[in-house]
Amino acid sequence: MTAQLIDGVALSRQLRARIGEQTQALLQRIGRRPGLAVILVGDDPASAVYVRHKVAACEEFGLHSVFEKYEAATAEALVLDRVAALNADPTIHGILVQMPLPKHIDPQKVIAAIDPRKDVDGYSVLAAGQLTTGLPGLRPCTPLGCMKLIESTGQSLRGKHAVVIGRSNTVGKPMALLLLQANATVTVCHSATPDLGVHTRQADVIVAAVGRRSTVTADMVKPGAIVIDVGMNRNEQGKLCGDVDYAGVRDVAGWITRVPGGVGPMTITMLLANTLQAAEALLG
Ligand code: NAP
Repeated sequence: MTAQLIDGVALSRQLRARIGEQTQALLQRIGRRPGLAVILVGDDPASAVYVRHKVAACEEFGLHSVFEKYEAATAEALVLDRVAALNADPTIHGILVQMPLPKHIDPQKVIAAIDPRKDVDGYSVLAAGQLTTGLPGLRPCTPLGCMKLIESTGQSLRGKHAVVIGRSNTVGKPMALLLLQANATVTVCHSATPDLGVHTRQADVIVAAVGRRSTVTADMVKPGAIVIDVGMNRNEQGKLCGDVDYAGVRDVAGWITRVPGGVGPMTITMLLANTLQAAEALLG
């Protein structure tokens, strides 16, 4: 079997075009655009690239965006002041503080300072509680993007067995909760799971969010499974690759995402979707 490619670039294009239309509709209805503010502290090169893509996507699809960059030594108090100012800014409906922050800044404090209605990353304790209890709210962008990729296969998750590898607060845990909400039976694996393959071989859906190359190999995948690769790693040649051994697994899986071109673009697309959602809620 050769798996069908789940193309995150193509799906993003479709969804972003729709977000662009909804942005125009909002503009015509009430004369306002959804606005996203992105704060970057420090010189992490990967973060700089992510932020650039996020701001560029806003511009391309008609959202208002503000980008604030601060040097690594910036005091925590200044970042908190900027968040407070953006909370009060009526042209801003989404605030994203790019992680990781320099060590002297407490990320939890910064996340907690963001007005929950503008928390478009969905990282706050409130957003986590809303997701856990099934209340409406802003969901973390990467897991939300993975759900859209799975939905695009046309396969229902009801009654399916999903295995999530990774249990971070930003990817693994919210991913597991979203799958559970979609009526999958969910197993969460992590670094203390003795034998990943025992679990993944029973999975109809595998979501790998580890940050380690070749974590999922062909012998670990049930024929026909949906395989979503969140991981972002570099191989020996310095090329971007995921957690899944794509070349081997595509011969076994039914559907598969690639790195690059899978989850990454969808994360940005969901950020735009969350900013639009926040703007619609804030502007009535
Ligand atoms: P993280 O916070 O480092 O979490 C990694 C998770 O993987 C942890 O729960 C860890 O378990 C687990 N793990 C580590 N080694 C393992 C092993 N050998 N077997 C099973 N589980 C193992 O990372 P993250 O933020 O969730 O991100 C995961 C990956 O996704 C990274 O490569 C990141 O760059 C990528 N990512 C991509 C996007 C995107 O838009 N494409 C967005 C976010 C993240 P413990 O909890 O036991 O330590």
